Amino acid sequence: MAIIIDGKELAKKIRSNLKIECQELIKKGIQPKLAVIMVGDDSASKVYVRNKSRACKEVGVEYEEYLLGSDITQKELIDLIHKLNEDKKVNGILLQSPIPSHLDINEAFREISYKKDVDGFNPINVGKLLLNQDTFISCTPYGIMKMFEEYNIDLEGKNVVIIGRSNIVGKPLMACCLNNHATVTICHSRTKELAEKTKNADILIAAIGKAKFVKADMVKEGAIVIDVGINRDENQKLTGDVDFENVKEKASYITPVPGGVGPMTIAMLMNNVIKATIQQNSENNKI
Ligand code: NAP
Repeated sequence: MAIIIDGKELAKKIRSNLKIECQELIKKGIQPKLAVIMVGDDSASKVYVRNKSRACKEVGVEYEEYLLGSDITQKELIDLIHKLNEDKKVNGILLQSPIPSHLDINEAFREISYKKDVDGFNPINVGKLLLNQDTFISCTPYGIMKMFEEYNIDLEGKNVVIIGRSNIVGKPLMACCLNNHATVTICHSRTKELAEKTKNADILIAAIGKAKFVKADMVKEGAIVIDVGINRDENQKLTGDVDFENVKEKASYITPVPGGVGPMTIAMLMNNVIKATIQQNSENNKI
C-alpha cells in the first residue's frame, strides 16, 4: 500500500512560510501584488481563480482581478497586459487559460513581461527552464518538484514517464525532471504501446485529462505515481487521471485527487509572486 503524498498539508506549510516572507517585505514598505486576467466565464477557471485569490489573502499578497468579456479584442487584451507590465505596483501577472478561441494566447503569454511572468509561460522563461537557468518555473511542474524534494524522492537516474505533452504541464515537467538528472520519456495520444512504456517507469506522472485512465496493470510494482489530472467522474466526483483505489495497492507513493498536485500548484504560484517581488525590488535597490 502506497504512502499518500499529502499535497494539501505540504502546500499549507509552504504558504505559511511565504506569509512570513511576505510580512518581512511589507515591513520594508513593499506590498507584493498579483494581477489576474480572466477572459469569458469558464466555470472551472472561476474556481481556480477563486482559489488563487484565497491563497493571496492568506499569504498577504494583494490581489487584483480583471474580468474581461468574451468579446474582447486581441488588442484590448494586449493593451491591458502592457498596462500591467508598466504598473510598478504589480509584481506578477497571470492570464487564466482557457481564453476564447478568437484570441491568440501565445501572443498574450509572450507579451507578459518575463519579469512578472509568475506562471512561467513566457517563451523567455520556458527557454531558461530548458537551459536549466534560474527562471519562473510553471507552477504545476514546480509543485511536483517540491513534492519530490519534501518526500526525499531523488530523481537522479530514475526512469520518469510523463503522459501528456501540454505546454503548461507535460513539457515544462519534462525539463524539470531532466534538470534533476532523470531519464525522461514523454508520451501522448500518438504514443504506441503506452502501457509498455508506463510499466518501465520508476516515476509515472499522468497529465492527460481523462478520469482513471492509468490502471494498475500499467504501473510497475513500487512505482511513484503522480496524478495531475482534474476530472469529474460519472457521479460528478472530482477524480484524477489515475485509478487511485487500485493503483495505490501497487505504488510506493501516490498523490490523491483532490489534495495532491492541485494545492501545490497554487502554493508555487504564491512562491513565484514573492520571488518576482524580491527580484523587482532588488533591481530597484529597494532591498
Ligand atoms: P491538455 O493540454 O489537454 O493535454 C493532455 C495531454 O494528454 C496531451 O498531450 C494529449 O496528447 C495527452 N493524451 C490525451 N489522450 C491520451 C491518450 N489516450 N493516451 C496518451 N496521451 C493522451 O491538458 P493539460 O492542460 O496538460 O492538463 C492535463 C490534466 O491536468 C487535466 O485534467 C487538467 O485539468 C489537469 N491540470 C491540473 C493542474 C493542477 O494544478 N492539478 C494544472 C494543470 C492541469 P496529444 O498532445 O497528442 O493531444
